[in-house]
Amino acid sequence: MAETIVITGGAGFLGSHLSERLVAEGCSVVCLDDFCTGTPANVAHLAGNPAFRLIRCDVTEHMEVAGQVDAVLHFASPASPADYLEMPIETLRVGSVGTINALELARHKQARFLLASTSEVYGDPLVHPQGEDYWGNVNPVGPRGVYDEAKRFSEALTVAYRKNYKVDTTIVRIFNTYGPRMRPNDGRAIPTFIRQALGGEPITVSGDGTQTRSVCYVSDLVEGVLRLLRSSHPGPMNIGNPCELSVLQLAETIRRMTGTRSAVTFIPRPTDDPRVRQPRIDLAGEVLGWKPEVGLEDGLARTVEWFRQQASRADRAEPRIRAPR
Ligand code: NAD
Repeated sequence: MAETIVITGGAGFLGSHLSERLVAEGCSVVCLDDFCTGTPANVAHLAGNPAFRLIRCDVTEHMEVAGQVDAVLHFASPASPADYLEMPIETLRVGSVGTINALELARHKQARFLLASTSEVYGDPLVHPQGEDYWGNVNPVGPRGVYDEAKRFSEALTVAYRKNYKVDTTIVRIFNTYGPRMRPNDGRAIPTFIRQALGGEPITVSGDGTQTRSVCYVSDLVEGVLRLLRSSHPGPMNIGNPCELSVLQLAETIRRMTGTRSAVTFIPRPTDDPRVRQPRIDLAGEVLGWKPEVGLEDGLARTVEWFRQQASRADRAEPRIRAPR
């Protein structure tokens, strides 16, 4: 019988790619999403498939799924700084109450549980690169604390359910991931730079742009997450691309690849913005035989192409008022 996988946040960026891949592999997928940052449009191409169900629900309110469930993937949470700064309480609720509800579902169904955690648990790290044994440097009362601490709490909950209720759990610490279906206005660096470059607007780099990021293409992330799901490893496990570059280099690369005339300009750096970010991925290599396959330029080219298509679709959908001749 086909496996049934529940994905909270399944209509979001990562959740939609996971849903697509699992349906293609022959699984039944049930997405639970309240669409606060995701959209049914992300999974519209799966809508007619009998192996796919999308249920609108806030996972902090209730979580019920009839029948057998083999795995619960808990991805529901605002994820971009712009989103979680606008929804601080919702972010803390979905990381706490939402995680309890997702763990309870896994417990009652005797399903494997996978928590989508984040490299943000490392905060502004004092150790570089970051391995899973690093405890992090998070400011709990800073603006980013609502997200970082929600994820740290949800990791602690997951470990407690494993220990006390013997739920088969695992934790993936996801580093910055990018690709098609990111929202152009979600405030994360790559979609922002691409939107600005394609729109001919200035490309806004925060600070002096020397802060680093290590960015992973979405198909590599999905592969790593599914290998972890199908292993028996409890995590936490980093999944990300260790190819580190400065935010200014990222902006310049996007500028060159889009052929834009937009100039790079500098804006103030957000409070507690991490100075460096790079995953150690030895554990994923040893346990899962996983490493990223998609290079930066290849991944960016696919993402830019998708943003271009979206922009031209939007142009066709909105007839412009013609200027008089
Ligand atoms: P996203 O905002 O596109 O997806 C999150 C989804 O969760 C959305 O569809 C949203 O509507 C849904 N959601 C939020 N609160 C909900 C609630 N209370 N009930 C039901 N649905 C709810 O973000 P994403 O980038 O796809 O991130 C998905 C997960 O991966 C998040 O948990 C995030 O913390 C984690 N993560 C992502 C990245 C990344 O680079 N994309 C990095 C680290 C961790």
